Amino acid sequence: MEFPASENRKPHAVCIPFPAQGHINPMLKLAMLLHHKGFHITFVNTEFNHRRLLRSRGLNSLDGLPDFCFETIPDGLPPSDENVTQSALSLFLSTPKNCLSPLRQLLVKLNSTSTSGPPVSCIIPDSIMSFAVIAAKEIGVPCACFSTSPAAIFLLSLSYRQLEEKGLLPLKDGSSLNDQMSTTINWIPGIKHIQIKDFPGFFHTTDSNDPMLQFLVTEVERCTTASAIISHSFNALESDVLSALSSICPPIHAIGPLQLLVDQLPENNLKSIGSNLWKEDAECLKWLDTKETDSVIYVSYGSITVMTPEKLVEFAWGLASSNQNFLWIIRPDLVVGEAAVLPAEFLEETKDRGLIAEWCSQEQVLNHRAVGGFLTHCGWNSMFESLYSGVPMLCWPFFADQTTNCKLACNDWGVGIELDKNVTRNAVELHVRELMQGEKGKAMRIKATEWKKKAEEAVASDGSSSSDLEKLVNKVLLSKP
Ligand code: UDP
Repeated sequence: MEFPASENRKPHAVCIPFPAQGHINPMLKLAMLLHHKGFHITFVNTEFNHRRLLRSRGLNSLDGLPDFCFETIPDGLPPSDENVTQSALSLFLSTPKNCLSPLRQLLVKLNSTSTSGPPVSCIIPDSIMSFAVIAAKEIGVPCACFSTSPAAIFLLSLSYRQLEEKGLLPLKDGSSLNDQMSTTINWIPGIKHIQIKDFPGFFHTTDSNDPMLQFLVTEVERCTTASAIISHSFNALESDVLSALSSICPPIHAIGPLQLLVDQLPENNLKSIGSNLWKEDAECLKWLDTKETDSVIYVSYGSITVMTPEKLVEFAWGLASSNQNFLWIIRPDLVVGEAAVLPAEFLEETKDRGLIAEWCSQEQVLNHRAVGGFLTHCGWNSMFESLYSGVPMLCWPFFADQTTNCKLACNDWGVGIELDKNVTRNAVELHVRELMQGEKGKAMRIKATEWKKKAEEAVASDGSSSSDLEKLVNKVLLSKP
């Protein structure tokens, strides 16, 4: 893509992630790709997360690079402890109400003649920051909403009204919840077979006014009024879903895995910007170097999942009894309201084959030859990173899209085993052994390697994700809405 040499005529994309780790990461990668394609980028974090990003790097300011600038808007929440992840529910309630006005002010500032950058020419909000669609319309620029979940989540969320009309949702009090949850739906185009229990967790409510449910449905519906949708997926992974969406949505572009596209960019300072809200522990990679190929199970619950101290202890003894090497990420705020404490006997017993860290460079860990399995909470970034690294998973979904992601990995893609919500040490031991050493684990590792290959094909120069990125740039972001 060639742009006019004159600096002030560069296209200018304003990228607005939802303020959580699993949304900032993919948005930053997309922004880097657009920057490489000649866009001036303004990357908009919330003030809270901006401060955390600085702290995790020990910096006073994030200067960005020429043509890659950082700006902030408030999230509308009262000040809170920056060592603790903000509540997702509070953010869901606050961002639609409180962020549009500061975004409007920011756009005025970016477009004012006193600002050095070119005028804003397109907006890319997270699909759950869809208030930005309104702002984009007001200033007359295209807006492409970026969904950081599988395309199936977008489709299922758009199906909510039909499920409601058919009386399947919200769930009904009084009659058997189990029967309702096991109802099979086979009429959603693109989705052959799914049970209500496999829908996003927000759907599992008896209250049609449930704020999470309302939030999700309103957000996806508003995205359908945008100029385009971007999905962090790739065509071979979800071809039926993507084709079903293309008949009910604005143009949808499956651009993933973004990291594999970013890996192809020439080395530059942008790659070192990073988006981790926690400081990475560099020991993890060194420790992995000392372990045999496929001998380590990596355990992480992402950035939001929390658990009780009792569950943590069940995981600990399950890992100990499995006799496998493990790298276990325990965030400082993983246990609700208190510090995570592991039994001294457990630490003593596993000291030669277990490493515990607060945060790591997960993509590097999953790509390390020593990692042979991943016990995950099923956040989409984690699952996608595992899939394109060829690592099979033990799935323990927590909330939101994770129930559906788990179903996709276990039933549709053949790369996951589900661990019951009420986790016990025996189940952890059994499934970890099965994943790392059993026949099922072997079959899943082969399947995961096949998906890895397909992901690599999608990002090749003639692959579907590369071609969707070109289309997004040329037909949406550089066009007039
Ligand atoms: N992550 C990381 N280091 C860790 C744990 C997680 O870099 O120690 C990253 C991980 O690679 C992923 C993101 O944090 O990109 C978590 O996003 P995900 O969608 O998996 O889960 P969420 O945090 O949104 O629940």
